[in-house]
Amino acid sequence: MPAAMPLAQAGQPRPTEIPIVEVKDLVRTYKLGSQQVMALRGVNMTVRPGAFIVLKGRSGSGKTTLLNCIGGLDRPTSGTVQVLGRPLANLNESQLTRWRREQVGFVFQSFALLPTLSAFENVELMPRLAGKSRRECRERALRSLNLVGLTKWIHHRPFEMSGGQQQRVAVARAIANSPTLIIADEPTGELDTTTGREILALFRRIVYEEHTTLIMASHDPLVDEYVDEVLQLRDGQIVDTQVVP
Ligand code: ADP
Ligand code: MG
Repeated sequence: MPAAMPLAQAGQPRPTEIPIVEVKDLVRTYKLGSQQVMALRGVNMTVRPGAFIVLKGRSGSGKTTLLNCIGGLDRPTSGTVQVLGRPLANLNESQLTRWRREQVGFVFQSFALLPTLSAFENVELMPRLAGKSRRECRERALRSLNLVGLTKWIHHRPFEMSGGQQQRVAVARAIANSPTLIIADEPTGELDTTTGREILALFRRIVYEEHTTLIMASHDPLVDEYVDEVLQLRDGQIVDTQVVP
């Protein structure tokens, strides 16, 4: 009888990882009056678990459209988006809503917090929508706000906080349901350099500590220091892929 198998055998391939997201030949066109706008013209990308990816490119290059197709906020004209090995196109509306609510955390440039709710209530809303118990909602909200360093601010409303603090609340809200994927569209766009760096460092830490995957759109040159991979979009196509060493 052989001795106990070693945990990892040198030279053996790792068990195949299912990509979090796989995009194939993605095309999205919009009708604008009598004109067709080609927002995405054949995008291919694979996002492995635990990656922190940035989509770069000038305004109008297709970043938001690509993020929206991945997050299930928009439907492709042709091509496929697979999440965890399943085509999003196969999901019906309620399954798609569940994907968005339970597996994806969204962070936007403009924070998009509800102004009449406190930080705590804004964050707690997410597990509530996902049908968690009252106690779990509370625990998740407190934990998320603690993780982003806002424990002392939980009862404040958005207008009583700085832009950076509001974006931290938005990040806490995005992670409250322990999502598989975080999608962040220009998350530092309205922040000064120092505050932007704080948010990027926070994302880096969340990807590492929470074992999540993050796709961000940005044209901020700062981001390269924080991410694993830079994808360059131009006119609806990925024209360059750089893995950051
Ligand atoms: P980015 O986020 O890189 O600035 P977008 O994905 O927002 O780029 O836009 C890509 C292209 O698609 C642009 O030309 C934009 O004008 C067009 N576009 C995006 N959304 C719509 C829409 N809802 N209707 C018409 N055109 C759109
Ligand atoms: Mg955009």
